[in-house]
Amino acid sequence: MDLSIIIPLLNEEQSLEELLSRIDKVCRENNFSYEVWFVDDGSTDNSWGVIQFLAASYPEVHAIKFSRNYGKSQALHAAFEKAKGEVVITMDADLQDFPEEIPGLVNKLIEGNYDIVSGWKRKRYDNLMTKNLPSKLFNAAARKVSGIFLHDFNCGLKAYKKKVVKAVDVYGDMHRYIPVLAAHGGFKNITEKEVQHQARPYGTSKFGANRFIRGFLDLITLWFVSRFGGRPMHFFGAAGTLMFMLGFLSSIWLGASKLIEVSRGVYGHLIADNPWFYIALTMMLLGTQLFIAGFLGEMLIRTNRERKNYHIEETL
Ligand code: UDP
Ligand code: MG
Repeated sequence: MDLSIIIPLLNEEQSLEELLSRIDKVCRENNFSYEVWFVDDGSTDNSWGVIQFLAASYPEVHAIKFSRNYGKSQALHAAFEKAKGEVVITMDADLQDFPEEIPGLVNKLIEGNYDIVSGWKRKRYDNLMTKNLPSKLFNAAARKVSGIFLHDFNCGLKAYKKKVVKAVDVYGDMHRYIPVLAAHGGFKNITEKEVQHQARPYGTSKFGANRFIRGFLDLITLWFVSRFGGRPMHFFGAAGTLMFMLGFLSSIWLGASKLIEVSRGVYGHLIADNPWFYIALTMMLLGTQLFIAGFLGEMLIRTNRERKNYHIEETL
Protein backbone atom coordinates (compact mmCIF):
# COMPACT_ATOMS: atom_id res chain seq x y z
CA MET A 1 0.00 0.00 0.00
CA ASP A 2 1.15 3.42 -0.97
CA LEU A 3 0.45 6.11 1.66
CA SER A 4 0.69 9.88 1.78
CA ILE A 5 0.76 11.08 5.36
CA ILE A 6 -0.08 14.74 5.72
CA ILE A 7 0.85 16.63 8.87
CA PRO A 8 -0.04 20.32 9.27
CA LEU A 9 1.87 21.98 12.06
CA LEU A 10 2.28 25.24 13.86
CA ASN A 11 5.08 25.48 16.43
CA GLU A 12 5.44 21.78 17.20
CA GLU A 13 9.25 21.48 17.19
CA GLN A 14 9.36 19.09 20.15
CA SER A 15 7.04 16.45 18.70
CA LEU A 16 8.21 16.07 15.12
CA GLU A 17 11.13 13.72 15.55
CA GLU A 18 9.26 11.21 17.71
CA LEU A 19 6.22 11.46 15.43
CA LEU A 20 8.23 10.65 12.32
CA SER A 21 10.15 7.77 13.87
CA ARG A 22 6.88 6.18 15.03
CA ILE A 23 5.34 6.64 11.57
CA ASP A 24 8.39 5.09 9.97
CA LYS A 25 8.30 2.12 12.33
CA VAL A 26 4.59 1.45 11.79
CA CYS A 27 4.87 1.71 8.01
CA ARG A 28 7.87 -0.64 7.91
CA GLU A 29 6.15 -3.21 10.10
CA ASN A 30 3.12 -3.19 7.82
CA ASN A 31 5.02 -3.06 4.52
CA PHE A 32 3.50 0.27 3.56
CA SER A 33 5.51 2.47 1.27
CA TYR A 34 4.90 6.05 2.29
CA GLU A 35 5.64 9.71 1.84
CA VAL A 36 5.21 12.28 4.59
CA TRP A 37 4.16 15.84 3.83
CA PHE A 38 4.88 18.23 6.66
CA VAL A 39 3.22 21.59 6.16
CA ASP A 40 4.76 24.27 8.33
CA ASP A 41 1.93 26.74 8.73
CA GLY A 42 4.07 29.75 9.66
CA SER A 43 5.82 28.39 12.76
CA THR A 44 7.92 30.85 14.72
CA ASP A 45 9.87 28.19 16.63
CA ASN A 46 12.48 25.85 15.16
CA SER A 47 9.94 23.48 13.53
CA TRP A 48 11.28 24.17 10.04
CA GLY A 49 14.83 23.54 11.20
CA VAL A 50 13.76 20.17 12.63
CA ILE A 51 11.95 19.29 9.39
CA GLN A 52 15.05 20.11 7.34
CA PHE A 53 17.08 17.89 9.62
CA LEU A 54 14.57 15.05 9.32
CA ALA A 55 14.34 15.41 5.53
CA ALA A 56 18.09 14.93 5.34
CA SER A 57 17.85 11.53 7.03
CA TYR A 58 14.51 10.26 5.67
CA PRO A 59 14.02 10.25 1.87
CA GLU A 60 10.26 9.82 2.50
CA VAL A 61 9.98 13.30 4.01
CA HIS A 62 8.70 16.22 1.95
CA ALA A 63 7.67 19.57 3.30
CA ILE A 64 5.98 22.82 2.49
CA LYS A 65 6.66 26.03 4.39
CA PHE A 66 4.08 28.80 4.40
CA SER A 67 5.25 32.40 4.53
CA ARG A 68 2.90 33.04 7.45
CA ASN A 69 0.20 31.33 9.46
CA TYR A 70 -2.68 30.73 7.04
CA GLY A 71 -4.56 28.10 9.05
CA LYS A 72 -4.95 24.35 9.18
CA SER A 73 -7.37 24.20 6.24
CA GLN A 74 -4.94 25.94 3.93
CA ALA A 75 -2.12 23.69 5.13
CA LEU A 76 -4.19 20.59 4.33
CA HIS A 77 -5.18 22.01 0.97
CA ALA A 78 -1.59 22.61 -0.05
CA ALA A 79 -0.59 19.05 0.82
CA PHE A 80 -3.71 17.50 -0.74
CA GLU A 81 -2.52 18.93 -4.04
CA LYS A 82 0.88 17.28 -3.64
CA ALA A 83 -0.14 13.87 -2.31
CA LYS A 84 0.70 10.95 -4.58
CA GLY A 85 -0.24 7.93 -2.44
CA GLU A 86 -3.32 5.81 -3.13
CA VAL A 87 -4.42 6.38 0.46
CA VAL A 88 -4.02 9.76 2.14
CA ILE A 89 -3.76 10.02 5.92
CA THR A 90 -4.03 13.30 7.78
CA MET A 91 -2.88 13.63 11.35
CA ASP A 92 -2.00 16.31 13.88
CA ALA A 93 1.64 16.96 14.68
CA ASP A 94 1.23 17.24 18.44
CA LEU A 95 1.38 13.46 19.18
CA GLN A 96 -2.24 13.52 20.38
CA ASP A 97 -2.99 11.23 17.41
CA PHE A 98 -1.25 7.85 17.41
CA PRO A 99 0.66 6.81 14.27
CA GLU A 100 0.02 3.22 15.41
CA GLU A 101 -3.62 3.70 14.36
CA ILE A 102 -2.71 4.13 10.70
CA PRO A 103 -2.83 0.44 9.66
CA GLY A 104 -6.29 -0.01 11.22
CA LEU A 105 -7.66 3.00 9.35
CA VAL A 106 -6.07 1.94 6.07
CA ASN A 107 -7.39 -1.62 6.37
CA LYS A 108 -10.90 -0.44 7.09
CA LEU A 109 -10.77 1.96 4.14
CA ILE A 110 -9.64 -0.74 1.74
CA GLU A 111 -11.73 -3.63 3.02
CA GLY A 112 -14.94 -1.63 3.26
CA ASN A 113 -14.17 0.29 0.05
CA TYR A 114 -14.87 3.52 1.92
CA ASP A 115 -14.12 7.03 0.65
CA ILE A 116 -13.22 8.27 4.14
CA VAL A 117 -12.53 6.59 7.44
CA SER A 118 -12.63 9.25 10.13
CA GLY A 119 -11.04 8.81 13.54
CA TRP A 120 -13.25 8.89 16.60
CA LYS A 121 -11.55 9.94 19.83
CA ARG A 122 -14.03 8.10 22.01
CA LYS A 123 -11.98 8.66 25.11
CA ARG A 124 -10.62 12.16 24.87
CA TYR A 125 -7.84 13.67 26.90
CA ASP A 126 -8.71 17.32 26.61
CA ASN A 127 -10.26 19.81 29.00
CA LEU A 128 -13.86 18.83 29.80
CA MET A 129 -15.41 22.28 29.97
CA THR A 130 -13.54 24.12 27.24
CA LYS A 131 -13.34 21.29 24.74
CA ASN A 132 -15.09 17.99 25.35
CA LEU A 133 -18.56 19.29 26.18
CA PRO A 134 -18.75 22.01 23.51
CA SER A 135 -17.40 19.48 21.07
CA LYS A 136 -20.29 17.08 21.80
CA LEU A 137 -22.76 19.86 21.09
CA PHE A 138 -20.91 20.86 17.97
CA ASN A 139 -20.83 17.31 16.61
CA ALA A 140 -24.54 16.86 17.30
CA ALA A 141 -25.29 20.03 15.31
CA ALA A 142 -23.02 18.91 12.49
CA ARG A 143 -24.76 15.50 12.33
CA LYS A 144 -28.15 17.15 12.22
CA VAL A 145 -27.23 19.60 9.47
CA SER A 146 -25.21 17.25 7.29
CA GLY A 147 -27.03 13.96 7.84
CA ILE A 148 -23.63 12.26 8.13
CA PHE A 149 -23.37 10.12 11.20
CA LEU A 150 -19.95 10.76 12.70
CA HIS A 151 -19.21 11.21 16.39
CA ASP A 152 -16.11 13.28 15.84
CA PHE A 153 -16.09 15.41 12.68
CA ASN A 154 -13.03 17.39 13.66
CA CYS A 155 -10.69 14.48 14.46
CA GLY A 156 -7.32 15.27 12.88
CA LEU A 157 -6.67 11.61 12.12
CA LYS A 158 -8.45 10.42 9.00
CA ALA A 159 -7.84 8.18 6.01
CA TYR A 160 -9.01 9.13 2.53
CA LYS A 161 -8.93 7.67 -0.91
CA LYS A 162 -6.73 9.83 -3.09
CA LYS A 163 -9.58 10.88 -5.40
CA VAL A 164 -11.43 12.37 -2.41
CA VAL A 165 -8.67 14.75 -1.36
CA LYS A 166 -8.12 15.81 -4.96
CA ALA A 167 -11.79 16.75 -5.28
CA VAL A 168 -12.60 18.53 -2.01
CA ASP A 169 -11.88 22.20 -1.76
CA VAL A 170 -10.90 22.90 1.86
CA TYR A 171 -10.83 26.64 2.51
CA GLY A 172 -11.27 29.06 5.40
CA ASP A 173 -11.74 26.99 8.55
CA MET A 174 -13.55 24.20 6.76
CA HIS A 175 -11.12 21.46 7.84
CA ARG A 176 -13.67 20.72 10.55
CA TYR A 177 -16.12 19.65 7.89
CA ILE A 178 -14.11 17.75 5.31
CA PRO A 179 -16.51 14.77 5.50
CA VAL A 180 -19.41 17.12 4.77
CA LEU A 181 -17.57 18.74 1.85
CA ALA A 182 -16.71 15.27 0.54
CA ALA A 183 -20.31 14.11 0.81
CA HIS A 184 -21.41 17.17 -1.19
CA GLY A 185 -18.88 16.12 -3.78
CA GLY A 186 -20.55 12.73 -4.05
CA PHE A 187 -18.24 10.74 -1.77
CA LYS A 188 -20.87 9.46 0.57
CA ASN A 189 -19.24 6.25 1.66
CA ILE A 190 -18.00 7.60 4.98
CA THR A 191 -17.43 5.75 8.21
CA GLU A 192 -15.54 6.12 11.45
CA LYS A 193 -13.18 4.05 13.56
CA GLU A 194 -12.33 4.47 17.21
CA VAL A 195 -8.81 5.75 17.74
CA GLN A 196 -6.63 6.31 20.77
CA HIS A 197 -5.94 9.81 21.95
CA GLN A 198 -3.67 11.30 24.55
CA ALA A 199 -3.08 14.62 26.26
CA ARG A 200 -0.75 17.00 24.49
CA PRO A 201 2.77 16.11 25.66
CA TYR A 202 4.33 19.40 24.50
CA GLY A 203 3.19 22.93 23.73
CA THR A 204 -0.35 24.27 23.81
CA SER A 205 -3.48 24.00 21.67
CA LYS A 206 -3.43 26.31 18.68
CA PHE A 207 -7.16 26.97 18.63
CA GLY A 208 -8.77 29.24 21.24
CA ALA A 209 -12.31 29.28 22.59
CA ASN A 210 -13.54 31.08 19.49
CA ARG A 211 -13.18 27.79 17.61
CA PHE A 212 -16.77 26.92 18.47
CA ILE A 213 -18.22 30.22 17.34
CA ARG A 214 -16.34 29.91 14.06
CA GLY A 215 -17.33 26.26 13.80
CA PHE A 216 -21.01 27.04 14.15
CA LEU A 217 -20.87 29.92 11.68
CA ASP A 218 -19.17 27.64 9.18
CA LEU A 219 -21.87 25.07 9.76
CA ILE A 220 -24.54 27.61 8.84
CA THR A 221 -22.56 28.49 5.72
CA LEU A 222 -22.32 24.83 4.78
CA TRP A 223 -26.01 24.26 5.27
CA PHE A 224 -26.85 27.30 3.18
CA VAL A 225 -24.32 26.62 0.44
CA SER A 226 -25.39 23.00 0.14
CA ARG A 227 -29.03 23.97 -0.30
CA PHE A 228 -28.85 27.19 -2.28
CA GLY A 229 -25.22 27.67 -3.27
CA GLY A 230 -25.92 26.57 -6.83
CA ARG A 231 -29.16 28.51 -7.18
CA PRO A 232 -29.20 31.59 -4.94
CA MET A 233 -32.21 33.03 -6.74
CA HIS A 234 -34.38 30.25 -5.34
CA PHE A 235 -33.79 31.55 -1.85
CA PHE A 236 -33.34 35.30 -2.27
CA GLY A 237 -35.72 35.59 -5.19
CA ALA A 238 -38.52 33.81 -3.36
CA ALA A 239 -38.03 35.74 -0.13
CA GLY A 240 -37.66 39.02 -2.03
CA THR A 241 -40.73 38.53 -4.18
CA LEU A 242 -42.85 37.56 -1.20
CA MET A 243 -41.75 40.60 0.75
CA PHE A 244 -42.15 43.00 -2.12
CA MET A 245 -45.63 41.70 -2.89
CA LEU A 246 -46.73 42.08 0.73
CA GLY A 247 -45.44 45.66 0.75
CA PHE A 248 -46.94 46.41 -2.62
CA LEU A 249 -50.37 45.08 -1.71
CA SER A 250 -50.29 47.01 1.56
CA SER A 251 -49.51 50.22 -0.26
CA ILE A 252 -52.34 49.63 -2.75
CA TRP A 253 -54.65 49.10 0.17
CA LEU A 254 -53.36 52.30 1.79
CA GLY A 255 -53.87 54.27 -1.41
CA ALA A 256 -57.34 52.85 -1.95
CA SER A 257 -58.50 53.65 1.56
CA LYS A 258 -57.15 57.18 1.15
CA LEU A 259 -59.19 57.60 -2.05
CA ILE A 260 -62.31 56.28 -0.34
CA GLU A 261 -61.75 58.73 2.52
CA VAL A 262 -61.35 61.66 0.15
CA SER A 263 -64.42 60.64 -1.85
CA ARG A 264 -66.39 60.76 1.38
CA GLY A 265 -65.16 64.29 1.92
CA VAL A 266 -62.79 63.51 4.82
CA TYR A 267 -59.59 65.51 4.54
CA GLY A 268 -56.65 66.21 6.79
CA HIS A 269 -55.28 62.67 7.39
CA LEU A 270 -51.87 62.01 5.91
CA ILE A 271 -51.13 58.53 4.52
CA ALA A 272 -47.95 58.66 6.57
CA ASP A 273 -50.03 58.87 9.76
CA ASN A 274 -50.84 55.20 9.29
CA PRO A 275 -48.08 52.88 10.62
CA TRP A 276 -48.73 50.52 7.72
CA PHE A 277 -47.22 53.12 5.47
CA TYR A 278 -43.79 52.51 6.97
CA ILE A 279 -44.22 48.78 7.08
CA ALA A 280 -45.18 48.69 3.39
CA LEU A 281 -42.29 50.95 2.46
CA THR A 282 -39.76 48.85 4.35
CA MET A 283 -41.08 45.63 2.89
CA MET A 284 -40.81 46.89 -0.66
CA LEU A 285 -37.28 48.15 -0.09
CA LEU A 286 -36.13 44.95 1.60
CA GLY A 287 -37.86 42.82 -1.02
CA THR A 288 -36.02 44.62 -3.81
CA GLN A 289 -32.73 44.26 -1.96
CA LEU A 290 -33.22 40.53 -1.48
CA PHE A 291 -34.13 40.10 -5.11
CA ILE A 292 -30.99 41.95 -6.18
CA ALA A 293 -28.89 39.79 -3.83
CA GLY A 294 -30.26 36.68 -5.57
CA PHE A 295 -29.57 38.18 -8.96
CA LEU A 296 -25.99 39.08 -8.01
CA GLY A 297 -25.53 35.56 -6.69
CA GLU A 298 -26.59 34.11 -10.03
CA MET A 299 -24.23 36.45 -11.87
CA LEU A 300 -21.34 35.37 -9.62
CA ILE A 301 -21.99 31.74 -10.41
CA ARG A 302 -22.03 32.53 -14.13
CA THR A 303 -18.69 34.31 -14.07
CA ASN A 304 -17.23 31.56 -11.92
CA ARG A 305 -18.01 28.73 -14.29
CA GLU A 306 -14.58 27.19 -14.29
CA ARG A 307 -15.01 26.26 -10.63
CA LYS A 308 -16.84 23.02 -11.10
CA ASN A 309 -19.57 22.22 -8.66
CA TYR A 310 -19.93 18.63 -9.73
CA HIS A 311 -17.63 15.69 -9.70
CA ILE A 312 -17.69 13.10 -12.49
CA GLU A 313 -17.28 9.56 -11.24
CA GLU A 314 -16.68 7.92 -14.61
CA THR A 315 -17.03 8.54 -18.34
CA LEU A 316 -17.24 6.05 -21.17
N1 UDP B 1 -2.28 23.76 13.25
C1 UDP B 1 -1.86 24.33 12.06
N2 UDP B 1 -2.21 25.65 11.82
C2 UDP B 1 -2.96 26.37 12.71
C3 UDP B 1 -3.39 25.75 13.89
C4 UDP B 1 -3.04 24.44 14.13
O1 UDP B 1 -1.21 23.71 11.24
O2 UDP B 1 -3.24 27.54 12.44
C5 UDP B 1 -1.92 22.34 13.51
C6 UDP B 1 -1.29 22.09 14.87
O3 UDP B 1 0.10 22.31 14.87
C7 UDP B 1 -1.62 20.63 15.09
C8 UDP B 1 -2.99 20.50 14.45
O4 UDP B 1 -3.11 21.59 13.54
O5 UDP B 1 -0.72 19.79 14.41
C9 UDP B 1 -4.11 20.52 15.48
O6 UDP B 1 -3.98 21.65 16.31
P1 UDP B 1 -4.16 21.58 17.89
O7 UDP B 1 -3.51 20.37 18.44
O8 UDP B 1 -3.73 22.88 18.46
O9 UDP B 1 -5.73 21.43 18.00
P2 UDP B 1 -6.53 20.65 19.14
O10 UDP B 1 -5.91 19.29 19.30
O11 UDP B 1 -6.40 21.49 20.36
O12 UDP B 1 -7.93 20.59 18.61
MG1 MG C 1 -4.05 18.70 19.42
